[in-house]
Amino acid sequence: MVSIPETSTHIVVPLTRTVLFPESDLEIKVNKALGNLLKQRMDQGENLAVALSVKEGFDPGRMDTDKFFSTGTLMELKSHTFKSGHDLFRVYGRSRIAVESLRKTDSQVTAAVTPAPDHADIDLKSRKQMLDYIKDIAQEISIQFKGSEAYARRIGQMDSIPEIMTYLLPFIPIAMEEKQRLLETDSFKERGIAFMDILLKHKTSILLQIEMAEKFSNQANEKYRKAFLKEQLKHIRQELDEGSPESNVKKDYARLIKEAGMPGEVEQVALEELSKLKEQGQGSHETPIIKNYLDLLVALPWRVTEEKDIDIDHAERLLDDHHHGQVKIKERILQHLSVMKLKKEKQGSILLLVGPPGTGKTSLGAGIAKALDRKYIRISLGGVRDEAEIRGHRRTYIGALPGRIIQGMKKAGEKNPVFVLDEVDKLVSAFQGDPSSALLEVLDPEQNHSFSDHYLEVPYDLSDVFFVATANDKRGIPAPLLDRMEVIEVSGYTAGEKLCIAKDHLMKRVLEEHGIKKSQLEITEDALKALIDQYTVEAGVRALRRQLARVAGFASRKIVSGTADQPYIVTEDSLEEILGLPKTRHDVAQVDNPPGVVTGLAWTPMGGEILFIEAVHMPGTGRLTLTGQLGDVMKESATISMGLFRSRLAFALKDFDFQKNDLHIHIPAGALPKDGPSAGVAMFTAIASLIMGRKIDPTLAMTGEITLRGHILPVGGIKEKVLAAHRAGMKRIILPEENEKDLTEIPEEVREQLTFVTIHTVEDLIRETIGIDLPKPETLRLGTLPENLAVSPVCTKV
Ligand code: ADP
Repeated sequence: MVSIPETSTHIVVPLTRTVLFPESDLEIKVNKALGNLLKQRMDQGENLAVALSVKEGFDPGRMDTDKFFSTGTLMELKSHTFKSGHDLFRVYGRSRIAVESLRKTDSQVTAAVTPAPDHADIDLKSRKQMLDYIKDIAQEISIQFKGSEAYARRIGQMDSIPEIMTYLLPFIPIAMEEKQRLLETDSFKERGIAFMDILLKHKTSILLQIEMAEKFSNQANEKYRKAFLKEQLKHIRQELDEGSPESNVKKDYARLIKEAGMPGEVEQVALEELSKLKEQGQGSHETPIIKNYLDLLVALPWRVTEEKDIDIDHAERLLDDHHHGQVKIKERILQHLSVMKLKKEKQGSILLLVGPPGTGKTSLGAGIAKALDRKYIRISLGGVRDEAEIRGHRRTYIGALPGRIIQGMKKAGEKNPVFVLDEVDKLVSAFQGDPSSALLEVLDPEQNHSFSDHYLEVPYDLSDVFFVATANDKRGIPAPLLDRMEVIEVSGYTAGEKLCIAKDHLMKRVLEEHGIKKSQLEITEDALKALIDQYTVEAGVRALRRQLARVAGFASRKIVSGTADQPYIVTEDSLEEILGLPKTRHDVAQVDNPPGVVTGLAWTPMGGEILFIEAVHMPGTGRLTLTGQLGDVMKESATISMGLFRSRLAFALKDFDFQKNDLHIHIPAGALPKDGPSAGVAMFTAIASLIMGRKIDPTLAMTGEITLRGHILPVGGIKEKVLAAHRAGMKRIILPEENEKDLTEIPEEVREQLTFVTIHTVEDLIRETIGIDLPKPETLRLGTLPENLAVSPVCTKV
């Protein structure tokens, strides 16, 4: 016959830090409501209740039933006292029970329980032996420490294992689950052995806890209570970190150092620092310095991150999604990634993206990180003048920090992030050391496997990092630095490309930023075109993004106020209301230019630009005046052009006396400093146009260097210049023959709308601009210019 276990129902008393074992006494503190209830029960002669330990996060106010463990102890309430505002009950554990069900009414819980007797698998003799062992351990502890005699004596008087367990367990800083496991262990023998293990493992800490508890009970006042709790917390933390209590180290640096995967010599340094830390007194001023240093050492990524195989197709797809157009640049990047894939061993790399602002250089860096599935870190080097920003401060300085590179690596947490160094051309050399030489060590593959940061002191290997530097102007980068990088030129966008970027990328981001749904705002294509054309003058798309944001801001006001239909439609006509009058543009083709005015093309870090070269002459003594913030090279170009013109034509022009005229050449937009040889062709043309009295087609723009012998030399920045000319409404462009190859870079849609004329000599130039065939120098004689060239001072008035 199967016996059905007897079920009984009792009030539950929660135990927070301990477990009550059968055959042991315990003093339990309870809250007022429960205290009243238990007292009432005792008065009625009902003195049985159930002790159940609770899990972490238990709230005595709520008494959530899911926070109770389901094995507990049936106990007898023996006496009640009231101390320091709390009800204290002395209880005696009778037997183990298993909880069948729990029921909560108000803030009181009752449990239906069945007996779950222990398995008494140990005879009296062995029991005694085990008790002696446990007492021995306690004795051992008391020999080592002063002030523990009282507690040792008390344990000496105890004659059952459960009694000692119940007494000591509250002082042992282990998880409640572990304590509860002891109670759930059926076998007496197993339970005793498990307890001995715990005791041995935690003996030092237990003793301290008990000492503190004793102090507390002797002088139970608030101050002590707090001090006790603090001390207890400290010891528990120490215990959890498994550090030795005599050290003041809370973090387990030894383990962290071991786990960080540092190279041998770095680990050595870290361990030395750790032993220094342990030697420090609690209040030593060096303690936080060493700790900060150790924190950095253990947080830096040292271990080689497992390389994911680079999936070039996937990378291509991601780059395409992330970035519109710029096919050639993406192709260069993909080639670079392919080499990395083939090379395998070192996965570091250094790219430099140079181009005007807002052309997506930084966001290409982010795209590469995404394509490679690596972490992305970005720092801006604009205006950095102190070497310490790159390389850190020595630790002897108060408040010293590692440099930005090491900080970036810490943030990345992986050894192979994509690290974008923005604006490398804007590093400033100053007396605080040269930041660019520090950067050289970062970017030089020969050196960057052991980059030295002053704070870090130990070498750090950066050779797995994929560096992407960005710059507006290559000329601002020191040559040795430039040498180490693979340079990719990023150019400005055509109006068509800007339209696509606005539609496919910028709009989406701007709407998101303003919390506007796609269904709430629509900007017509014509409005977008007008926005690009009339409200932005730039190579990139930064201003465009700003203007779109202004439109979105305006629209959100309308949407919120409910005064507009949905979607709110922005047309070309509404732009003026939203953004004001279109920006006045200086750099557009003029309808008509007088002789002496020519359109040149310039390259600036902001992109290409057209510029007007104006020349006038006046009675004088043959002087040449130049204005418009011209650099030395540009001034030389003007002198060369003048010399060339005179050498070729002066003696042929009988009506123009160079000795009796001064010439003044000006290039407006004077606030912009200009330099470079590429305006030579335009300056020569301006002089020729002025003196020969011929107007130059206002939709003709030109670029090229000119030599004193009349040769036209190639120049840089053709793509940017052509895009600027196209933006400004130019139709024909003269450029050096040797630059013809650069035309392949220009988008088809732009190329189709322009006529390109390539020239090799000054004769070609005169033919294409003035429209005459200049005789060869050797055949030119005084007064031999062709009949149709009437040089007249009247025409030269500007
Ligand atoms: P840069 O670093 O060249 O100054 P950014 O990377 O900061 O330019 O780009 C400015 C903004 O324009 C970013 O929001 C970027 O996402 C966007 N952008 C630029 N070019 C493109 C492009 N080709 N496709 C999509 N978005 C682009």
